[in-house]
Amino acid sequence: MSDNEGTACVGFIGLGTMGREMARNLLKAGFAVRAYDVRPEAVSELAAEGAVAATSPADAARGAAVAVTMLPDTPHVEAVVYGEHGLLKAPPAGRIIVDMSTISPVAVRRMAADLAAVDVAFLDAPVSGGPVGARNAALSIMVGGAADAFATAQPVFRAMGTTITHVGAPGAGQAVKLCNQLVCGINIQAICEALALARASGVDLDQLRHVLLGGSAASWMLDRLGPQMIAGDASAGFRIDLMLKDLRLVLEQAGALDVPLPATALVTSQYVEARAHGEGTNGNQALFRVYDRMTGRTAG
Ligand code: NAD
Repeated sequence: MSDNEGTACVGFIGLGTMGREMARNLLKAGFAVRAYDVRPEAVSELAAEGAVAATSPADAARGAAVAVTMLPDTPHVEAVVYGEHGLLKAPPAGRIIVDMSTISPVAVRRMAADLAAVDVAFLDAPVSGGPVGARNAALSIMVGGAADAFATAQPVFRAMGTTITHVGAPGAGQAVKLCNQLVCGINIQAICEALALARASGVDLDQLRHVLLGGSAASWMLDRLGPQMIAGDASAGFRIDLMLKDLRLVLEQAGALDVPLPATALVTSQYVEARAHGEGTNGNQALFRVYDRMTGRTAG
């Protein structure tokens, strides 16, 4: 498969916040895209932009070099692989499935083994960079699985991301992504604490952000999510419930490997608190509302 060849076909399953942007970038790069989602309106939206509307995972994979999945959680990916019209029974013609969701590494290894038994390669290729990275085809993509399948799928990855790294055997991509997520979660929490203290101290929060971004406390989260935290804007991007799912996967992995992660455990509890207050579908920056409640002060 070469870049922009115009004829290679990708089956794309899961056209949500991230997936629709990634599928659009495949179209822009010249791939034919067969798009499927359980929400018909998401399929119609992509079809209006040049994708072929598919009616099931099997239909999306039909004739495709690679099938890509971008779904919320482990059970959704398992349903698409093992389900009645799933990819195990009807794999793509190129016999490569790339899951780009964040899911359990244990489930990845099981699916990779079941698919290998029918001569299909399964790559776990979770991403970092959020909806903006997805839109700009600037994702960081961490890939576990067979090296030859990784090499074959390179043009597909290059249409969606800029940092594309093969990190090891099946499950290794998810292991790296879980490390990424614990850094993101603890970083968001650190920003919330700084903003809470600055607000109570009567410091201008925009100025605080500006100063921190110019020094050693700078971070992607402060840059991208800081303005929304300061404005009290909870609109969804990466949802609280998806981050909670990721942090629970981190703690599951850590538990299985006997690795204590006290900071991750603490911030996970705060995400549970946020969801209990109805913030599950809000964006991650809504973690700051936990600090609103703890301090009796509000943002915005
Ligand atoms: P999303 O919920 O916006 O999109 C998921 C899509 O999958 C939805 O359109 C849903 O209708 C569809 N879907 C669910 N079950 C399906 C099924 N059985 N068959 C076909 N389609 C199905 O989620 P998202 O924000 O796009 O995230 C997708 C994955 O990427 C998650 O694992 C998430 O943790 C990860 N991720 C998200 C971000 C982010 O900033 N949003 C960043 C990096 C990674």
